[in-house]
Amino acid sequence: MKQMYRIAGHATLYFCLTAPAAALEHGPHVHGTGELQVAVDSNTLTLELHAPLENLLGFEHAARTASELEVVKAMTAKLERPEMLFKLPKAASCTARPTRIESPITAASATGARMDPKKNAGGDHADLSATFSFICTRIDKLDSIEVAIFTAFPATRTLNAAVIGPRGQSAATLTPNRRVIRF
Ligand SMILES: [Zn+2]
Repeated sequence: MKQMYRIAGHATLYFCLTAPAAALEHGPHVHGTGELQVAVDSNTLTLELHAPLENLLGFEHAARTASELEVVKAMTAKLERPEMLFKLPKAASCTARPTRIESPITAASATGARMDPKKNAGGDHADLSATFSFICTRIDKLDSIEVAIFTAFPATRTLNAAVIGPRGQSAATLTPNRRVIRF
């Protein structure tokens, strides 16, 4: 799926971003590492997280016990509070929209169904994709994003971030000690 992003202030410059679709197709993953796609378009900030479930749950199979189900629910609750995962400048006046979560495990855990192993491209591994979005009334004041995923999910050690912001494209390797994206 191709998405077009208009870069603010340069109405004639368009970038085609194919990375989100490609990221969904990735093979065996590296525990502790994830990907974060960040895009600012008009008044909307969109952040797509792709991560091994190991980073978020500590396991990569559908919940089999009551305690594992609690862990899945706790993860989902955290993902549904984007304002706790991404600290944005107050001046930008951003309001979180509902999170979209895609994962074979959360779906199977919710219904009690067995996860289809064929959906698990990495063998015993499983990923989660979550899309967070914020509407910002003063998006021109959005000059940084502190990524607090490292605090919420401490098994996350590295996030490879691709950013399409007001000043064009950039990439950054985020870690617990280098967690701020600046535009
Ligand atoms: Zn794994």
